[in-house]
Amino acid sequence: MNSYGCEQFREELGDSLGDVLSPAAAEHLADCDDCRDLRHDARAAARAVSRAGADYLPPSPEALEAKILAALDARGAGTTNVVPLPKVEKTAVMPAAPVAPPEGAAQKRPARR
Ligand SMILES: [Zn+2]
Repeated sequence: MNSYGCEQFREELGDSLGDVLSPAAAEHLADCDDCRDLRHDARAAARAVSRAGADYLPPSPEALEAKILAALDARGAGTTNVVPLPKVEKTAVMPAAPVAPPEGAAQKRPARR
């Protein structure tokens, strides 16, 4: 397994960030300072990224509602964007019984599960 080199180690590092090392990778790491440093830096960067949003506090529902209402007020009081729903014809009548499918349609229907 002497063919395992820095190139292979970097490929493996990209997959798992060095959390889980293959025996060949561990063996390479014991002899290669460059790859050991690379793994250390990659893991430090991964830890930093995983904490990047830790100080974010989501707004309370009340604060969010107030913000939305304020934004709506700022758009202009009195104007409305409400689109009325289309009128439904009251004379439309559903068929009393399902219409029989055309000849041959039953064969194309997928099997019930
Ligand atoms: Zn190396």
